[in-house]
Amino acid sequence: MQTVTTIAGVRACVRAWRQAGERIAFVPTMGNLHAGHISLMELARQGHDRFIASIFVNPMQFGPNEDFAHYPRTPARDAQMLQDAGCDVMFMPDVAEMYGEGATAPTRIDVPELTTTLCGEFRPGHFEGVATVVAKLFNIVLPDTAVFGEKDFQQLAVIRRMVADLCFPVTVVGAPTVREADGLAMSSRNQYLTAEERRIAPGIHRALLAATAAIRSGAADVAAIERSGAASLAAHGMQVDYFAVRRRVDLTHPGAGDRELVVLAAARIGKARLIDNLQVDRP
Ligand code: AMP
Repeated sequence: MQTVTTIAGVRACVRAWRQAGERIAFVPTMGNLHAGHISLMELARQGHDRFIASIFVNPMQFGPNEDFAHYPRTPARDAQMLQDAGCDVMFMPDVAEMYGEGATAPTRIDVPELTTTLCGEFRPGHFEGVATVVAKLFNIVLPDTAVFGEKDFQQLAVIRRMVADLCFPVTVVGAPTVREADGLAMSSRNQYLTAEERRIAPGIHRALLAATAAIRSGAADVAAIERSGAASLAAHGMQVDYFAVRRRVDLTHPGAGDRELVVLAAARIGKARLIDNLQVDRP
């Protein structure tokens, strides 16, 4: 595996692979890799000759009071994990390489509507930062396929919309959420939890399971399901940002005839803001 820190370096690798007719898969990450990330890499390798992973903690997607400075950075361990996963290139640019001259007022990508609801409401500008950095990374790596986790369901929806609207020649693949044995979705931010907070954190998954079970058994009162989910998180001592039942296709509120749903939750436990979701089909 090569470690590359410059845009020109990635382009040189990609050019050579393209000339050899090879297919390229790409997995963008913020590093501090765990088994969830590695599952994306395994999916990325299927049907492709090469795969690139990027490790970049993107300042544009963090709010002023968020955890950009403290976000866990473990480059040596990440490199070993990527090597073991069969990665060809680890692209690890610094902020100057990615934003350069545009650092103070960079061009931004705004995906409307999808980005102002749910996490967008609580993290203004977050998805603009995500869409912008992913567009830049796509233009640098020029992958055939890019893999994103369903764990960040709204992010995946934003990327799919951006790719469709801006005609990026990239196939976006969603990968299932990898969980700890007790159901907690794996996340770099789980490290912020104290032992006591870690004990209550799987309550998010349990509340999502209860909500999807209710929907599957025919419960029709979406507002009641949302209230009961939020109450169950609050009862664990979490500060609930939202517990919401939405249409999978566009994250809008479901009507009576909508069958393909997703239940999404975001809650703060101590210093960590955790998100999770489960997809469910109405009977
Ligand atoms: P991050 O490093 O948190 O930006 O995540 C990089 C990619 O890994 C994103 O597409 C995430 O959705 C995905 N990801 C993060 N956690 C998980 C998980 N537990 N299971 C599957 N994918 C995940």
